Amino acid sequence: MTARLLGIVGTDTEAGKTVVAALVAAGLRGCGLRVGAVKPVATGVAPGSTGSPGSDAALLGLATGVPGAACALEELALPRSPLAAAAAEGRSLEVEALEREILRRAEEGDLDLLVVEGVGGVLVPLAPGCTVRDLMRRLGAPVLVAGRAGLGTINHCALTVDACRAAGLEVVGVVLGDVTGGVDPGLAAENAAQIAAQCPVPVLGVLPHLQPPDLADAIGLSAAAERHLDLGALVARFGEPGRRAEEAATAEVVRLDRAHVWHPFTQTSEWLEEEPLVIRDGAGCRVRDAGGRVYLDGISSLWANVHGHAHPRLDAALREQAGRIAHSTFLGQTHAPGAHLAAELAAAAPGRLTRVFYSEAGAAAVEVGLRIALLAQRLRGEPRRIRFLSLEDGYHGDTAGAVSVGRSEPFHRGLDPLLFDAVRVPPPQLVRARRGGSADAAERESLAALRRAVAETGDRLAAVVVEPRVQGAAGIWPHSDAWLRAVAAETRGCGALLLCDEVATGFGRTGDLFACGGAGVEPDILTLGKGLSGGYLPLSATVVGEALFDLFTGPYAKHRTLYYGHTFTANPLACAVARASLALFEEEDTLPRARALGRRLGERLEEVADLPGVTEVRRRGVMAGIELGGGRLDRPLEPSLRAGRQVVLAARRRGVIVRPLGDVVVLNPPLVMTDADADLLVEAVAESIVEVVSRLPALPGVR
Ligand code: PMP
Repeated sequence: MTARLLGIVGTDTEAGKTVVAALVAAGLRGCGLRVGAVKPVATGVAPGSTGSPGSDAALLGLATGVPGAACALEELALPRSPLAAAAAEGRSLEVEALEREILRRAEEGDLDLLVVEGVGGVLVPLAPGCTVRDLMRRLGAPVLVAGRAGLGTINHCALTVDACRAAGLEVVGVVLGDVTGGVDPGLAAENAAQIAAQCPVPVLGVLPHLQPPDLADAIGLSAAAERHLDLGALVARFGEPGRRAEEAATAEVVRLDRAHVWHPFTQTSEWLEEEPLVIRDGAGCRVRDAGGRVYLDGISSLWANVHGHAHPRLDAALREQAGRIAHSTFLGQTHAPGAHLAAELAAAAPGRLTRVFYSEAGAAAVEVGLRIALLAQRLRGEPRRIRFLSLEDGYHGDTAGAVSVGRSEPFHRGLDPLLFDAVRVPPPQLVRARRGGSADAAERESLAALRRAVAETGDRLAAVVVEPRVQGAAGIWPHSDAWLRAVAAETRGCGALLLCDEVATGFGRTGDLFACGGAGVEPDILTLGKGLSGGYLPLSATVVGEALFDLFTGPYAKHRTLYYGHTFTANPLACAVARASLALFEEEDTLPRARALGRRLGERLEEVADLPGVTEVRRRGVMAGIELGGGRLDRPLEPSLRAGRQVVLAARRRGVIVRPLGDVVVLNPPLVMTDADADLLVEAVAESIVEVVSRLPALPGVR
């Protein structure tokens, strides 16, 4: 069982964190809990002296019954912030490595609770872009605030509690301590009462100036904790009753979900059967479930997350905007995040795409694009152009128009009354599946089919709709940039508009900010979603050039207005986060990192391609699909075997989240995943495939 975590954070440096951490650890051990302690960073420590008698780590060691040196993870010589002290040594702390080590100790230490001591105050920087508060947040650790008992403590404690809560951290309480000695006990008690009244958290103890024998050994610490701390409250929170309460709360979530929720793209019979994954929080490339189990997010929460979960910069942008206004309509009004973001997107988009129409879902962005294309043709005097051409197997979302250009059997059976007929052309992979031959030949044949369709209906086409570079939801099918350019040329040649749907491929997934730009294609209409807000909030956009926009401009009575919009169009919270996300691409070199990640995945996936039961591995950038079948198994696999789903469940047992598209296992991680995590991801998926494939022939229904 994974230990729960408790962060001890100070209102300041020298606020008595180590004493509080040691007292909590020793006191709870005295109550029968198995408690460990870790000090992620010790500053002002001479090299090699970590854990020496009298040091902070030694005190934690006494409290937990392990050698002090084992409690400290990083030691830095200068008594400065970890960021500055590490820089003085010519290095930078690896926060992800610290986080991994702490979580490993929580998982493998056979503990009920792991106490994690912070460094200085909560906003002290550990590494560029990461404070103590961020580390606690990444760890998902509730925190206990240690403050000095004397004058000024109300302000410091209240600010610290506020700062923690603003970042979504649970504050379990405040402990005041007389660090230097001489604080009037009356003043300390008065301060404690005021803090309890003012902050929505309890004061769990007021410590006198403690010295040996209180601090001399585990017994002294435990006895002092009993005298001065509200151990009952901590036991209730972190002991067995707390664990039971948490389990009961999760069981209630599952009960309510099963009773009242209808999940998208989820077969209810299977959902009711399986143990549901209840996600509690996330940080970086990991998410954690309600039981404290940590998983690598191998699909970016449905291909959306770009810079990692709970990114401090994006969280701050969200909080900042939330402090102003959460929503203000965009119908006949504007706001700064919406206007700035539009300009920034216009600057980043390929070619002359300068006008941004916002929606929330990717499907809605496509819906708007279709409507713009149809009306634009009418407005420019081509009312015969009322048809759309799209690729078989294409996916553009689940609203009626989007499904019409992305219809696929058997998913959309029975929807005919809602849909219109599109001209469908086979993409290269379908040509190949039907006729065999080389990839080049398939692209040529697919283009020939497009030309035949254009010859027949080109003068009636409003637009051609295509997912550039990768047909995603069809099973991660990449095509060549040359094929895409040829499709664009055919489209232009027949007078239709080109709609590139980059809901899936946009924002770095294929190695370029936008796939069409990378391929040298300038669409007339570009649709964006998913990664637009860094994967944080529902926001999508349909981006066009001035020529199209101008067609809709004229006297009101001419009815050229685009009569389309949603209540939450251009939600300012989402726009503010999207701006920060775009800025991060520059600030954190996201595209070069995404390209390197793509290469790493490609190298590691070569081994997967050779596994029995794997037909093919396809990849473009960080979007990868592993097709099951082949080898000892038939292809395609009997759908009722649910082989893809089984691999996904097996990967989940290994601490990795991926999702299947039928029998294609998709990997599509956040762009900032490290090489080490990419390796973990691929290894876990490979092991899961081996496990599932070895079981498959024994199952009934294998053809
Ligand atoms: N277009 C493409 C290419 C997509 O991959 C998707 C979703 N996977 C959509 C549109 C629909 O986006 P949303 O789910 O946000 O409606």
